[in-house]
Amino acid sequence: MPLEEYRRKRKFTETPEPAGRVRRTARSRIFVVQKHAARRRHYDFRLAIAGVLVSWAVPKGPSMNPAEKRLAVRTEDHPLEYADFEGVIPEGQYGAGTVMVWDKGTYEPAGDIPPEEQLARGKIDVVLQGKKLRGGFTLVQTGGRWLLIKHRDEHADPSWDVDGPELDRSALTGRTLKEIEEARPGKKR
Ligand code: MN
Repeated sequence: MPLEEYRRKRKFTETPEPAGRVRRTARSRIFVVQKHAARRRHYDFRLAIAGVLVSWAVPKGPSMNPAEKRLAVRTEDHPLEYADFEGVIPEGQYGAGTVMVWDKGTYEPAGDIPPEEQLARGKIDVVLQGKKLRGGFTLVQTGGRWLLIKHRDEHADPSWDVDGPELDRSALTGRTLKEIEEARPGKKR
C-alpha cells in the first residue's frame, strides 16, 4: 500500500496534516517543495508520480546553481493533498515543526520515459515550472542516496542562495515561516 508508511507515522487526530488517499487515475504532474522547520531544518521535494507525491528530504535545499549537487534522501510517499499543506505539526508528533509551501508548480518529464519508469531506474529528468524553481533538474540515485542537480540551462543561476531574503516566503500564501507559526490554531498571543 503506497501510503501505508505515511499513515503509520502520523496520528491524524493530533496533526493537521491530511490523511489523503492514493489517486491512481490522477494524471497530475505537480511538484511541491516544502520548507520544514523540524528539529533539523530541511526542504522536502515532492513529485506527483503514479497518484502519490514521491518525496525526498533535501537538507541544504534545492539549488539553481548546477555546480551545487544537493543530497536528497528518499522519504515515504505522501498523498497528493499534501501539496497544499502549510501549518504547524504539533510537538511530540512525527515531523513536529512548521511547514511552508516554499514552491509549487508543474513538471514535465524530459524525454520519452514516463516518470514511473524514471523513478524505477533511479534517474529522473524533469523540467519544473514553479515560482522559484524553473527549468531542468535531475534526481539521480547513487547507492542509497540521491542527488538533486540543476541542469545547465537558461534558468541556471550561479549566485543562487536558497536562504536569500527574496526566497523566504510561501508560494501559496506569501507568509514567512514565523508568520505561519504565529497563525497556528490555539497559539497564545
Ligand atoms: Mn520534512
